[in-house]
Amino acid sequence: MPPKPLKLNGTALIHGDSKFAGSEVAPSISVTTTFRHLNPLESKDGKVSLNDVDLRNPARHVYSRYTQQVSTRAEHILSRINDGFAITYSSGLAASYSALVFYRPKRIAIRGGYHGCHATIDVYKKNQGINVELIDLDSEYRAGDLCWLETPLNPTGESRNIQYYADKVHKVGGKLIVDSTFGPPPLQYPFRFGADCVLHSGTKYFGGHSDLLAGVLVVKTLDEWNKLVADRIFLGNMMGSLESWLLLRSLRTLHLRVPRQSASATVLAQWLNSIAQTPVGKTYDGVPGGILTKVWHSSLQGIDKYGFDPSKQMQGGWNATFSILLSKPEYATELPHILDYFVPATSLGGVESLVEQRIQSDPSSDPGLVRLSIGVEDVEDLKEDLRQAFLKLASVKAKL
Ligand SMILES: *Cc1c(COP(=O)(O)O)cnc(C)c1O
Repeated sequence: MPPKPLKLNGTALIHGDSKFAGSEVAPSISVTTTFRHLNPLESKDGKVSLNDVDLRNPARHVYSRYTQQVSTRAEHILSRINDGFAITYSSGLAASYSALVFYRPKRIAIRGGYHGCHATIDVYKKNQGINVELIDLDSEYRAGDLCWLETPLNPTGESRNIQYYADKVHKVGGKLIVDSTFGPPPLQYPFRFGADCVLHSGTKYFGGHSDLLAGVLVVKTLDEWNKLVADRIFLGNMMGSLESWLLLRSLRTLHLRVPRQSASATVLAQWLNSIAQTPVGKTYDGVPGGILTKVWHSSLQGIDKYGFDPSKQMQGGWNATFSILLSKPEYATELPHILDYFVPATSLGGVESLVEQRIQSDPSSDPGLVRLSIGVEDVEDLKEDLRQAFLKLASVKAKL
């Protein structure tokens, strides 16, 4: 079990953007791309052009590719809760691409994880010619390498040792980026273990309602933030105005959603693991053994042979997305469609639980692997739903 949970600061989520608040309690939905110029003849300080706008604390806006009010507010809250300087993008992969453009690595150390990030790296490689090399996470590093570490890992939900890879890449003067999408605040804080940059698909837990695409990079200094913003203006990959409104709305309840999802997922992972360890011919809690063969989850990982204890990294609770392995691919194909509360769909992090035979989205996946994203429903109802579905699969099996 992890140590005492860290508290995600609800006050920061509700009031972290208060310096931008006007008389409206909730910000208006604004879709304007352009803003009225000041009259140079009437400007007190003579500052009227785009170049005079403070991009982090804009007193006014000029064009929404530079800044607009609601995404600025969302970035201030994201900065507060991630212990750094946060910048938003149009999607998680837009953030990934921007990180590559920022670090310009010649070599990237990476293994497994979300397949989309590998495809983004392929696009980057194409643009850089043949100079970019990919190496395994555990290869020897050299100066200038970028270590790309995803933890907990998609789709299994198992953790990797951030501090270990931070030390390893820093020894040669390289940088560590951590894709922490599966571990939003308050579950883990990668900067505390040596990360240089933290990546989130904001589409997942920050958005939390399966209704917006967004990406987030968090860096440690204002100088890095300014460089990323300068690039974003000309990459044009900022979040849409409407999305920024949905994101800000969602952030207000992050501290209520994520700990709840984490707690329910932990209960379910432990329960499913007991079923997976039940032999054929026996039952556990009414579910026959032999259908489910494996459960992956950070809480089940234990301490590895190098002494890495995931509970020390996930101090705020275990991940709410994880995977199970069914004994036959047909079970994995059928399971998502015989559940009542889990919605058969890709993605994760929303208030509704989702279930996916992972091979449907990632062709490299084991056909027996099913990924579960746990929402905020009553955990006993989710358990009951899984129980009835396993019994259905078992009765199909009995007929065969
Ligand atoms: C979904 C996801 C991404 C990509 O995010 P999008 O918002 O879909 O572009 C990146 N990394 C991980 C771990 C993800 O789950």
